[in-house]
This record gives sequence, structure tokens and C-alpha cells, in this order.
Amino acid sequence: MSKEKVHHITLIPGDGIGPEVTSAARKVLAAAGVVIDWEIVDAGAGAVEKHGTTLPDETLESIRKNKVALKGPLTTPIGGGFQSVNVGLRKALDLYSNVRPVRSALGVSFHHTPIDLIIFRENTEDLYSGMEYEVAPGVAQSLKIITEKASTRIAQAAFKWAAQTERRMVHAVHKANIMKKSDGLFLESVRKVAASYPDITYKEIIVDNCAMQLVMHPEQFDVLVLGNLYGDIISDLAAGLVGGLGVVPGANLGDNVAVFESVHGSAPDIAGKGIANPIATILSANMMLRHIGENKAADRIQAALVLFLSEKKYLTPDLGGNASTDEMVQGIINKIKLLR
Ligand code: ATP
Repeated sequence: MSKEKVHHITLIPGDGIGPEVTSAARKVLAAAGVVIDWEIVDAGAGAVEKHGTTLPDETLESIRKNKVALKGPLTTPIGGGFQSVNVGLRKALDLYSNVRPVRSALGVSFHHTPIDLIIFRENTEDLYSGMEYEVAPGVAQSLKIITEKASTRIAQAAFKWAAQTERRMVHAVHKANIMKKSDGLFLESVRKVAASYPDITYKEIIVDNCAMQLVMHPEQFDVLVLGNLYGDIISDLAAGLVGGLGVVPGANLGDNVAVFESVHGSAPDIAGKGIANPIATILSANMMLRHIGENKAADRIQAALVLFLSEKKYLTPDLGGNASTDEMVQGIINKIKLLR
């Protein structure tokens, strides 16, 4: 009988390239010796035919029960009155922190400067509240909702993480010069949290300047805390600095539940072609391993990825190669075995 701990984890393969990249991550975790009893459930456009909804109750139940999930990207069908499934999932499970480490450590960065920053994106409100109206023909309105509660808890998550991981600085990213009330409230809330962390330098930066500074001098950033929309845009920009969407992982964290998923979407342009880069999902799964205490396996996978990428062989097209997802996965697994 094996003495290894069996972890019970929900898996949402998702839409587009989701099934390809989550299957790749499962193979890598298995090669690193982590034993997981996956509970596979549906969500997204692919769930509609079977369940009549993009977010079946049994999917939410499974995540609530297991408390940890690995998730592929989900798409919301256009028309038919479906609300964004990603927003729905985050709200239903109150996954208020979207944590996205952006690092050049893998050696596939497009930038000459070493980058090691972490993005805390508020996940439940802002312009993602879904309150959009056509107020008159030719006039549309979207409501940007900012609350003290949500701004405070994303700030607390960012500062707590910064303190625990010995980070030196937190930037709050905003546009309070224009949106004085909503972004003003966000800033006011972050400032109050910052005041209880005197050892961490606190700075504020306007989002457009932040975008330019990230491109020109990314090394000045350490931890960024942002509202939902700025967090979405700045994440993709930052991903572009370190090798693209194919290599940036993420976690959606609530107080009791954690759902791990890459920053990228379902990439319909390459879905089913077998060329999706699985590294973002493998790294998301690696964050999940640290969350469940499998640090040794996570260290081994990280080392295997660095070794694999240093050889610049079997790279998928987004990284300038012509390998398939399967070839890349096999290359990574070979390195994991080498590091045993
Ligand atoms: P969403 O709105 O759901 O975030 P999106 O429309 O912004 O999604 P993505 O689906 O993330 O965009 O894709 C953006 C581009 O990046 C596409 O050209 C896609 O092919 C590419 N891309 C995304 N993920 C990967 C990946 N894992 N491997 C290779 N290319 C990828």
C-alpha cells in the first residue's frame, strides 16, 4: 500500500485549449509523484448542452467540498443571456484575490531586465459587476462598483503576502485623478491597510503611467494591488514582458477556497491544434501544490521547467519553436525524472 497522501481536487478542463493544457498539467504532477484523486466537473460554454447552464451547481458543490480546484479557461457563449462564467464562479465562491506572479526566472523573457513582481487583482467588482444598460438608443452605460470592503480585503491580501514573502514594496494602481469617488475610495482603503505595515514601502501610481513604467523599468515593481479591470489589463501587459500568456500562472483565492488557473483565456485561434503552451497551467498547478503543502514536488517541477527551457528545444510556437504540446510535456517530464 502506498504511503503517499492522496489529495482530493476538483478539475475543470474548461473550453478551447483548456482540456489540452489541464491534461498536460495533470501528467506533469503525476510525474512528480503527487497523488491526486481528480473530481472532473463541467463549466463554461462546453457545459451548456449537458447542464443547460455555464456554471452547474454540482461544479460549485465539488469546489466547496474539496476547497481546491485546477481550472482551464472558460468561455461565455455570446447571446442567450449568459453572464460571464468566470465572474460568476469568482462571485459564487467569493474568490476575491486574483494572484498572478510575473517572473522572468524561466529565461524566456522578452525584456532585458530581471522581473519578479506579483499582481493582486480584485476579483469581484469594478466594471465586472455586470450592470450595463442601454439608457437610450445610441447611449450605453456600465456601472463601476467599488466598495470599501472589497478594496480593503484585496489590500490586506497583498500586504499579508508581501510581509510573509519578505517583499519590500507595494504599489496601489489607480486612476483617482479622474475617478475621484470610486478609485478614490479604493486608494483610501489601501492606504489604511498600508498604515499597519510600516516595514513595507507603500507607493501609488496612476494606471497609464504604470503601463509605461512596466515596459521601460519593470524592475522598480514588487507587489501591485489593483482593481478588477486595471488588474486584467496590467496582467496581460506584464505577461508580455516575461514570455507571453503561455507562461504566466494565477490563483483565485477566497478565505476558504482556492481555484488555480493561468492568466490566458481559451485561445480559440489555436484550440484543438495541439500547439498550446501548457507552462502557464503547469505553473498554476505548481502554485496549487504549494497551497496544499507539496513544496518538494513544486520545487522539482520548477527546476525541471527552468532546465527544460534553458535548452530551447521542443518549444511551442508562441515561444518561437515548432513543437507540439505533447512534445513539450514529454520534454518537461524527462527533466523531472532526471531531477529525481
Ligand atoms: P480572455 O478574454 O478569456 O482573457 P483573450 O481573448 O484575451 O481571452 P486569450 O484566449 O488569452 O485571449 O488569447 C490571446 C492570444 O494569446 C491568442 O492569440 C492566443 O492564441 C494566445 N495564447 C493564449 N494562451 C496561450 C497558450 N497557452 N499557448 C499559446 N498561445 C496562447
